[in-house]
Amino acid sequence: MKFRRDISDYRNVEGIAAIVKNGLCHRCGACVGICPAGTLSLNGEGFPKQTSECINCNRCVQVCSGIVVDCESMGRDMFGETYRYGPALGEFIDTVVAHATDEEIRWCGASGGVITQLLVYLLESGQIKGALVAVQHRDDPSMGEGILARTREELVAAAQSRYTTTPSLTALKDMSGEDGPFAVVGLPCQIHSVRMLQKVDKSWARKVVLTIGLVCSHNPPCIATREVAAMFSRGKAQLEKAHYRQSDQRGWPHDTVELKYSNGEVRRSPFGPAETVTLLKNLYPLGRCLMCVDATAEFADIGVADPWIRNEKGYWRYTDPGGWSSLIVRTEKARQDLQSAVDAGKLVMHPQPPAEIEAGQYRMMSTKKIKVPCRLLWRKWFGWPVPFVTASLPKSSPWLMARSLVYMATRVIPVWKPFRLFLLRLGFSRVGIRLMAFRKEQKRKKAVEKAARL
Ligand SMILES: Cc1cc2nc3c(=O)[nH]c(=O)nc-3n(C[C@H](O)[C@H](O)[C@H](O)COP(=O)(O)OP(=O)(O)OC[C@H]3O[C@@H](n4cnc5c(N)ncnc54)[C@H](O)[C@@H]3O)c2cc1C
Ligand code: SF4
Ligand code: SF4
Ligand code: SF4
Repeated sequence: MKFRRDISDYRNVEGIAAIVKNGLCHRCGACVGICPAGTLSLNGEGFPKQTSECINCNRCVQVCSGIVVDCESMGRDMFGETYRYGPALGEFIDTVVAHATDEEIRWCGASGGVITQLLVYLLESGQIKGALVAVQHRDDPSMGEGILARTREELVAAAQSRYTTTPSLTALKDMSGEDGPFAVVGLPCQIHSVRMLQKVDKSWARKVVLTIGLVCSHNPPCIATREVAAMFSRGKAQLEKAHYRQSDQRGWPHDTVELKYSNGEVRRSPFGPAETVTLLKNLYPLGRCLMCVDATAEFADIGVADPWIRNEKGYWRYTDPGGWSSLIVRTEKARQDLQSAVDAGKLVMHPQPPAEIEAGQYRMMSTKKIKVPCRLLWRKWFGWPVPFVTASLPKSSPWLMARSLVYMATRVIPVWKPFRLFLLRLGFSRVGIRLMAFRKEQKRKKAVEKAARL
């Protein structure tokens, strides 16, 4: 299939097929969730596929943020005419750290359980009827799926981060016949799809009253969980549960990835989730994530992250058991919801300077703003497909362009399976563990040096 050069070339179900074929689909699930004719479903890798006749309404393409990332328009709608894409954290009105006061929720959350606690509070106080969240896929533990949670139990069961393919916006289908109000939790790209839906159909702007985005560097594909699970399993047991943020009694950041198998076997990654995901990032195809320009969920009402905030010695500051979440509060509505949860005794929250939130993750945040534009330029020059991004992306220096080219060349590593599996074994071996510990220590030292220079 030839790459289509204009957005109007992508139409209807054929347009969705072209988006998938051109590597522009990030598997958000929105097209499946909003298709009025039930034409689309998901294949085993989480990509949309045609299963019945299309009525050519083009709604699927209109909400697809794989092909269009209209930063300028989303930004203006949310923040006014002066909006400009650029700062690492995006637009915000407040930055805070917080945690749930309910110990069950705090401990089962990925960081401080803030998302789950806020949703439970909004639900129980009648401010929302439910929330679209992600759970482990009922048939395939290596993937996630979306549900419209309407009870505290469902919300609590959905807590935690799923570092795998999770096309959760298929659950938009469950909201379509109702008025709401609902909340939606999603990765930045999923929030883009929700915003596009709200733009083309105003009833969705009334229906979805709160969007909560997870800060996201990249999301490893489900094949990564499958191959790691197969490698870790001593027998031939089936994976039953993938727990990407299993805490020990010390809480964050002493959590890890835990895999449970049908024969009762339990295997844990020797690394924390962040290191495990970093290893997987280098070994698996990241597809559309390599072209993603949003790290901090810039168009969600709140962006939520782990508290990667260092103390003066370069160690993590928020390590008390139970965990904390960093929040980038972008809208007045979000600020009010958070404050009323604090007033009701559901959240503990205190201010955190934005520079400290940014410093802990500057590298990954700046990748999306500095390195991704270089990759997009290279891809255009090679004649490869790129998403239509409406943002004034920064100019790329020759040095950055050269580095990006080298990086893009390293992406062939994941392609050859035997080599990938060899590197995977090496990564989780004693050598890999030592290298990872060395890398972590180097990063800490560099952060201390950088802080001293400022
Ligand atoms: C793929 C991915 C990459 C991330 N990358 C970073 C990062 O680079 N830096 C950083 O600081 N934080 C990152 N996060 C966010 C972080 O892991 C926590 O999710 C966040 O701090 C929220 O913690 P919490 O305890 O407040 O949320 P919780 O109370 O645990 O609630 C989490 C909510 O997110 C939903 N959810 C989980 N996984 C997914 C998914 N894959 N797709 C859609 N919804 C989902 C759950 O259903 C739940 O409602 C990432 C998360 C994911 C899923
Ligand atoms: S019916 Fe409409 S939304 Fe569904 S696949 Fe066809 S064009 Fe897309
Ligand atoms: S990015 Fe989302 S909306 Fe676009 S094709 Fe993929 S699953 Fe569908
Ligand atoms: S990196 Fe971007 S495209 Fe990939 S999962 Fe995260 S938000 Fe979506």
